[in-house]
Amino acid sequence: MKTLDQYRIPFTGLKPGKHEFEFEINKLFFEEFEYSLVKNGDLKASVTLDKQETMMVADIHITGMIELTCDVCLNQFWSKSDILQRLIIKFDGSDDVADSTDEILILKKNEFELDLTNILYEYINLSLPYYSRCEEQGENVSCDQSMIDKLKSLSNQESTSTNEDPRWEILKKIKNNN
Ligand SMILES: [Zn+2]
Repeated sequence: MKTLDQYRIPFTGLKPGKHEFEFEINKLFFEEFEYSLVKNGDLKASVTLDKQETMMVADIHITGMIELTCDVCLNQFWSKSDILQRLIIKFDGSDDVADSTDEILILKKNEFELDLTNILYEYINLSLPYYSRCEEQGENVSCDQSMIDKLKSLSNQESTSTNEDPRWEILKKIKNNN
């Protein structure tokens, strides 16, 4: 888990006010998440952390490229990513504290660092298109027509074999045994 240590901001020593941080997000980052939909990326997260008396505000800007899999031709292609999110960090025990959400993170009073690993991962995942297509999210990429043809003929084969009456298979077997 060493890769992920770098996405932490130790904030207790910070003076009140704004502080800038930068993080690189790449293949190694996504590899730490076994079920990640994104397997590869080349992104930069710029974080402006505003430390205030009772809470902190993090403005997170993630830019770069992520690799998507096309839902039409199964091709892998690179897609531009530009994510802007604001995260409010509050501390357990403040009067108006509820549960953590995508916008609000509640930390225990004795915590001394802000771990952005899951937050960055979540923001990237939330930004993913519901349906990926070379022509839509890619730049100068088009679907692999030969692959589409291949997939089509495969699904045709499958449908003919499943449409076949299963009794024929049984009859064939009986016949072969004799
Ligand atoms: Zn495609």
